[in-house]
Amino acid sequence: MSIDNLPPLRDVIERHGLNAKKSLGQNFLLDLNLTAKIARTAGDLADQQVIEVGPGPGGLTRALLAQGALVTAIERDERCLPALEEIASHYPGRLTVISGDALEQDFAALVTSDRKPRIVANLPYNVGTQLLLNWLLSEPWPPFYASMTLMFQREVAERIVAKPGSEAYGRLGVLAGWRTEAKIAFDVPPQAFTPPPKVTSSVVHLMPREAPLACDAAKLGRVTQAAFGQRRKMLRQSIKSLGGEALLGKTGIDPTRRAETLSVEEFVTLANAI
Ligand code: SAM
Repeated sequence: MSIDNLPPLRDVIERHGLNAKKSLGQNFLLDLNLTAKIARTAGDLADQQVIEVGPGPGGLTRALLAQGALVTAIERDERCLPALEEIASHYPGRLTVISGDALEQDFAALVTSDRKPRIVANLPYNVGTQLLLNWLLSEPWPPFYASMTLMFQREVAERIVAKPGSEAYGRLGVLAGWRTEAKIAFDVPPQAFTPPPKVTSSVVHLMPREAPLACDAAKLGRVTQAAFGQRRKMLRQSIKSLGGEALLGKTGIDPTRRAETLSVEEFVTLANAI
């Protein structure tokens, strides 16, 4: 099966000597059904700008382009650039490749039209959580992007969508729940990747809320970090450095509760009381 008359990804990888580097979180997706499914999960991509992190040999990039997207892709591994150039010539004017580190990138500066871009990526595991946090803590809000469709390890995906009372609920769940509606779209088994990672992955789709509860993102970050840093302790102990019992008194939240029992709204109340 081919979506674009470009050579099969296995040939591209071989011809350009793209043996996967663990240090760069390289687990490539070669299954065209799967890359197409990820692209579809991002929504209607016709003439829509998509920002992709880590295109690698370009499997997902090709699926995005085949569905009509205009892709801006940031790749750190220079070995991938010739392969990406071949895709760019096949889709003139529709793929821009930036060579560099996504953690240093000013993503808002990449926006090319009035319509907000979608972020779609099979993220490198070593920097995925940090990138998500950066995008969740974007200012101003609503952010520069329309949605995020991202692949994570299943365990990280569960933390992103976690609800109060669950083991997985923590800082990531509070920040994602505060500013977005996040859902796990589907799971991807290890054998779908080359080389296969040790664990199952999941694609998460996040839609920014237009009007999340008013709160200072940095304060919410501090209070969740303190509270979940000692998640087995009562709040009066775990958030002592931020005001402990006095702070809790101002909000009416019982100081003997533990972090994982607080709703996102209660965390916002606490952060606003700092
Ligand atoms: N998108 C391809 C796919 O689905 O087959 C590759 C995904 S692979 C999991 C992650 C990609 O991110 C690799 O191509 C890797 O070189 C790239 N990468 C790793 N760290 C990066 C960083 N800091 N900035 C940009 N790209 C990075």
